[in-house]
Amino acid sequence: MPPLTTAFAHARSHPAMPAIYGYVTHPGRTLFRLGWFVVHSPPRLENLMTESSPRFEHEADATARYWHNTPLNTLPPPDMVGNYQRFKPLPTEGIQTRKAWIVGGGIAGMAAAFYLIRDGHMPGENITIIEGAGIEGGSLDGAGNPEDGYIVRGGREMNWNYDNLWDMFQDVPALELPEGFSVLDEYRLANDADPNWSKSRLMHKQGQVLSDFTRFGLSRKQQWEVVSLLLKRKDQLDDLTIEDHFSEGFLASNFWFLFRSMFAFENWHSLLEMKLYMHRFLDAIDGFGDMSTLVFPKFNQYDTFVTPLIKLLREKGVQVKLGTQVLDIDFDIQGDQRTVTALHTRGSDGESRLAVAPRDLVIALTGSMTEDTAYGDLDTVPVLKKRHGGPAEGSSWGLWRNLASHSPVFGKPDKFCGDIDRSMWESATLTCKPSPLLDKLRELSVNDPTSGRTATGGIITFTDSNWVLSVTINRQPHFPGQPKDTVVMWVYALLMDQPGNFIKKTMPECTGREIVAELCHHLGIADQLDAIIPHTKVRLALMPYITAQFMPRAAGDRPRVVPAGCTNLALVGQFVETANDVVFTMESSVRTARIAVYSLLDLPKQVPDLSPTQYDIRNLLKGARALNNGEPFIGERLLHKFLGDTYFAHILPPLPGNEGESTRRERLEAELAGLKDKGGAVLQGFAQWLDRFAGQLRKRGDD
Ligand SMILES: Cc1cc2nc3c(=O)[nH]c(=O)nc-3n(C[C@H](O)[C@H](O)[C@H](O)COP(=O)(O)OP(=O)(O)OC[C@H]3O[C@@H](n4cnc5c(N)ncnc54)[C@H](O)[C@@H]3O)c2cc1C
Repeated sequence: MPPLTTAFAHARSHPAMPAIYGYVTHPGRTLFRLGWFVVHSPPRLENLMTESSPRFEHEADATARYWHNTPLNTLPPPDMVGNYQRFKPLPTEGIQTRKAWIVGGGIAGMAAAFYLIRDGHMPGENITIIEGAGIEGGSLDGAGNPEDGYIVRGGREMNWNYDNLWDMFQDVPALELPEGFSVLDEYRLANDADPNWSKSRLMHKQGQVLSDFTRFGLSRKQQWEVVSLLLKRKDQLDDLTIEDHFSEGFLASNFWFLFRSMFAFENWHSLLEMKLYMHRFLDAIDGFGDMSTLVFPKFNQYDTFVTPLIKLLREKGVQVKLGTQVLDIDFDIQGDQRTVTALHTRGSDGESRLAVAPRDLVIALTGSMTEDTAYGDLDTVPVLKKRHGGPAEGSSWGLWRNLASHSPVFGKPDKFCGDIDRSMWESATLTCKPSPLLDKLRELSVNDPTSGRTATGGIITFTDSNWVLSVTINRQPHFPGQPKDTVVMWVYALLMDQPGNFIKKTMPECTGREIVAELCHHLGIADQLDAIIPHTKVRLALMPYITAQFMPRAAGDRPRVVPAGCTNLALVGQFVETANDVVFTMESSVRTARIAVYSLLDLPKQVPDLSPTQYDIRNLLKGARALNNGEPFIGERLLHKFLGDTYFAHILPPLPGNEGESTRRERLEAELAGLKDKGGAVLQGFAQWLDRFAGQLRKRGDD
């Protein structure tokens, strides 16, 4: 708790009951409004909720301060995720007549509509989603047919801690299961029945699986590079890149191949973002090697998530205006307050101005990672609309750029969309009938790709590929109605400026045919291309902004969900600031939408910070073990000695099972000797540091 600078009380009359309130504040902000009632008859719940409840920080930040309960703080922890958080607040005053305009029909926009209805009690028919494309879903796409080939620009790696996404999909009716089941139920049942893991996560030398791919291969020094990043404060990392912090050795390790291909990081991307990923997925680090900590949808992301969600929203009365781009926003500015008065739109019927009342809400997306995607196929190379100077005219980035020209509170879009060479990569969707390509992937899969179960269990990455190429087969059929003998495969690469190892061109210069050839080379089956190509349809997607959200950034580059002074505008998606969440996930888009709704309606409810798995000692211990290549880390054997016979024995990763009693003892003794030597040196260093520090203090006192 920060120092409480003011505490005062005053009396105020209320229509329902007389009340006395105390306010607890600290600089610039009311933390809690305390209340107690001079009650003559039992208070109604509405009055209790509106007059006596604490004021919520709508976006909780568990890293902001020390947290503990006191009589002044009776809320659950800021990062408590659990059923207690699933209460519905009461309707706010006038909600029945307020309207909401949501710009962007991706998961962020749809989630905003969902939370306005579920937690905000806004009637669905008061909500309009305005979407530039001819279909909802944004980056969550999935289309095609067996004749022309299917296309998904991306796959969906997900984890258990997508708490906002699961919170929403727990209340969205299932696609296939009968009434009463939710999308979450469906997802969970599929993943429990058909667990995910990989037996071929890393490959090299044209078709060989790396024998020890689950070991990270980090030296002690490189392990320390990871730990030292975890220890850094977030505000120390402005504009730094991953290669600013990590050594060349680290960037050539198995760990980095696993990490960067799984999350699509490039060496020049934001170090801060990598740090946030390390914290968010610390509990999953021991499963990075075999991907056993990942879960996947049953179908592609459009059919799994967009179809049921948009169906629910439409049933609730939400209007969706497709093919309409929002170009700019007008404000009424009074002092430091900014209220949206109109949206400028362009649709099939030309340009128009849509008036927005002061109590109406606008929730707008700033920038899309899949904007200006260029498409190609077996014999067509994708051609970008624009190669330099940022997004093409009329793109979704235009709105953010216009906002940013109004005020610095809207951030700096060009830091994200201004350098296509550093934010672009390409994916290819292959629609495959039986061929040697499918036979090879069958060998590398945990289950037969046509069995309906998980196949490769996540991406397979070729560590000696100049493009850093990866391939995956998710559960089939990947599309409802897909023929049984057809398998949809997904391919992507990270480096867009290197010639291939087999095809001496960069990936964006290649046709689908050439990309399949490069893939087959890395699988060791390039000699069978003639038997593969006739049975393989290829659709390409070159995405100039696909990792724009990972570009190096500093504080203030991304706007806050509700930028300072905005009374009825919130910004959502992948390019707004959140306290601790990462980007390039569906989860973070939903989080921003939820924060937007709670903040604009000032609901007495908060969006919990990330599930606190990073603070769990068990995760820290198993993380340390994983970083140390699966071997006991320094001090671990001693911990086993201390805790082995206690209640807490289970928090320790078991020692290697193949060690006999005498080996175990010898290793413990060696560890103790090492610790003693190191401990001596550390203590000596610490004593010298204390001397220096005391000297400096004395000197300052003399001055
Ligand atoms: C290749 C790829 C792989 C991915 N892998 C994963 C993964 O493994 N796991 C995971 O969790 N996430 C993954 N993601 C990320 C995830 O899909 C996105 O973070 C999420 O879908 C973004 O949703 P959004 O609504 O914020 O934005 P978008 O999906 O980009 O949607 C924005 C929508 O808003 C519209 N729009 C924007 N501006 C305007 C405007 N001014 N006027 C009108 N309409 C506008 C756009 O047309 C678009 O339809 C991946 C994405 C891709 C593309």
